[in-house]
Amino acid sequence: MADARADRTIAKRPPFVHLPGIMRPDILNSYFAEITGLPGIGPKLARPFNRLLGREDGARVLDLLLHLPASTIDRRARPTLSEVVPDTVVTVKIHVDRHVPTPPGSRAPYRVYGHDATGDLTLAFFKAERSWMERLLPIGETRWVSGTVTLYDGMAQMVHPDRVVDAAGLARLPPIEPLYPLVEGLGQGHVRRAIEAALAQVGDLPEWRAEAPDIGFLAALRKVHQPRDALDASPLGPAWQRLAYDELLAGQLALALLRASTVKQAGRPSLGDGAVSARILAALPFSLTGSQTEALKAIRADLGSEDRMLRLLQGDVGSGKTVVALLAAATVIEAGRQAALMAPTEILARQHMKTIAPLAEKAGLTVALLTGREKGRARAELLARLADGAVDLVIGTHALFQEGVDFHDLALAIVDEQHRFGVHQRLALAAKGEAVDVLVMTATPIPRTLVLTYFGDMDSSELREKPAGRQPIDTRAIPTDRIDEIVARLGRALEEGRRAYWICPLVEESETSDLAAAQARFGELQAHFGARVGLVHGKMKGAEKDAAMAAFAAGETQLLVATTVVEVGVDVPEASIIVIEHAERFGLAQLHQLRGRVGRGSEASTCVLLYRRPLGEIARQRLEALRSSEDGFFLAEQDLKLRGEGDVLGTRQSGFPGFRLARLDVHGDLLVQARAEALAAVQNDSDLQGPRGAALRLLLHVFERDVAVKLLSAG
Ligand code: ADP
Ligand code: MG
Repeated sequence: MADARADRTIAKRPPFVHLPGIMRPDILNSYFAEITGLPGIGPKLARPFNRLLGREDGARVLDLLLHLPASTIDRRARPTLSEVVPDTVVTVKIHVDRHVPTPPGSRAPYRVYGHDATGDLTLAFFKAERSWMERLLPIGETRWVSGTVTLYDGMAQMVHPDRVVDAAGLARLPPIEPLYPLVEGLGQGHVRRAIEAALAQVGDLPEWRAEAPDIGFLAALRKVHQPRDALDASPLGPAWQRLAYDELLAGQLALALLRASTVKQAGRPSLGDGAVSARILAALPFSLTGSQTEALKAIRADLGSEDRMLRLLQGDVGSGKTVVALLAAATVIEAGRQAALMAPTEILARQHMKTIAPLAEKAGLTVALLTGREKGRARAELLARLADGAVDLVIGTHALFQEGVDFHDLALAIVDEQHRFGVHQRLALAAKGEAVDVLVMTATPIPRTLVLTYFGDMDSSELREKPAGRQPIDTRAIPTDRIDEIVARLGRALEEGRRAYWICPLVEESETSDLAAAQARFGELQAHFGARVGLVHGKMKGAEKDAAMAAFAAGETQLLVATTVVEVGVDVPEASIIVIEHAERFGLAQLHQLRGRVGRGSEASTCVLLYRRPLGEIARQRLEALRSSEDGFFLAEQDLKLRGEGDVLGTRQSGFPGFRLARLDVHGDLLVQARAEALAAVQNDSDLQGPRGAALRLLLHVFERDVAVKLLSAG
């Protein structure tokens, strides 16, 4: 038995592991070479580069090439000093008149005075060294200086020119220079030189597009990094558009291949007799909503059919997806098989466990929890019970698809809050069984364009109806300077026995200070309300977090100060007030998610959006949208309009998770076309073996959709 299981583990190694180098065509070697092989990048510089490129394990040349400029500087503006427009970048020719070094002990800048026929210019340098300055700007000579001119005491001044060159240097100065996003330890020069070296080292690739665009892949990279005008390096320009289309095509191709290979593997029908479901329904203190019933009908039909299920269950916060998931699991369990429910966080996995366990018990199901925290004997025992089929339904985190976790007969993989996982994880979990049916649940309704981007043509069920008895949430936006008033009102509510969340943002870039802010707020509220206040944040240990959540759920604490860890799924129906501090820093979808923590019981609920003035226009519209609607599907569309795609998917930056250079706000229109091209390619040649197949495989490698290549080779 043990041996048989070992074999199975090897055969079913999750397909998300990166491909070994041998499978990557040699033509890509120069693209995938480590950046430390480039001239000028030693181990010391490699560290910040790895950070910049998000590759702690060693950035490659390709990562550099796909790191596109954030903007450009135009050095073609060459006015005379009298023509200079303040606060713009200019390149001016000056005659160097005199140096005024920083007096000892002073913090004043080192000044260099110069002029042309039309006026004067002062150059200012902080912490400059005299001999170096005298070599850079010799008195009596002419130099070109490039930078931003400002007015200081009515005098034209340039602080730290970007460039100081003589006539020969000017001839070499690129007319337009790209400006890159940076991290500490790197300057623009480092990145520019590295990219220049990278471009010199890679070779051209065969065209993978059905209709070759005017500009090839490598030529497009060159154009973006070595622009001749601003459009060359802009997301709107043809070069960037070509690259964005390539990336979208790679994503769509991977999804199309996934779909094709899923359909190829026949499903195994799971036909339930309805007995377990009936017991669960009987144990529920409510009846299902119309859309819950409808979603279940569709899911049961999928499970019972010969085809594999690949279905998206979209439902607003609190729309009741968990029950649908449980009843879906019941169907395969009735057929004598197993189900797994994977959540993105530990808290959420435990939350599901808590909701599901009592119902499961009444229905005679065996449910188990598996997260990173289950260890040692208990874990080993649990794994054994999973492998021999004693456990019907396992709930957990990504610990579920790790190696060593084996099922007796997994029939259904339910993935909650999918956008936090990638296609990789979905595949990895599904690979734990044979022809596993997949149900993906998202708590943030997703606009159609994004569904296509991330899920391809999955079937979709939507829970648009709210469970009966829900009261609307009274949502107000209030400036932070009225916080005392809020605290006073909160005090009265706590006296009445109500429960409230106080949310502080935790944004990655400034995690430490945000955490400090949350702790300080906790301290202040504790000073007002004493032991009734609890605290939970992401840096706490698992057990501490659980204890804080449990105390709040039990009513031992009434006010829970939390960073955004409560964002997803947490369910304390008695909570009826939520105060969100720095609401202007959150995306619309995220605010909507947070607000969904209240309004779950029968009590009327309040959501206070505390914002710091001045409020930007987009933030104002966002708060206004939130005040005017509780419909997640509507808000998701609004969100997409307001800020681009990042927020819709709950990420904090307005980036496009999983994509490097395509931006839906700019390149969204390309998606439909890319999708059509991908579907056509797969239809004509489902394993990419045809004449164009080799080039398309390269594309999948370049944008790291190689998991799809793996699918191809698995046949
Ligand atoms: P979601 O995961 O979609 O955000 P949940 O599944 O956590 O929502 O459900 C939110 C709450 O609503 C839970 O307390 C759940 O028991 C309850 N609930 C679910 N379906 C119904 C229903 N049909 N009628 C009343 N309450 C329901
Ligand atoms: Mg949920």
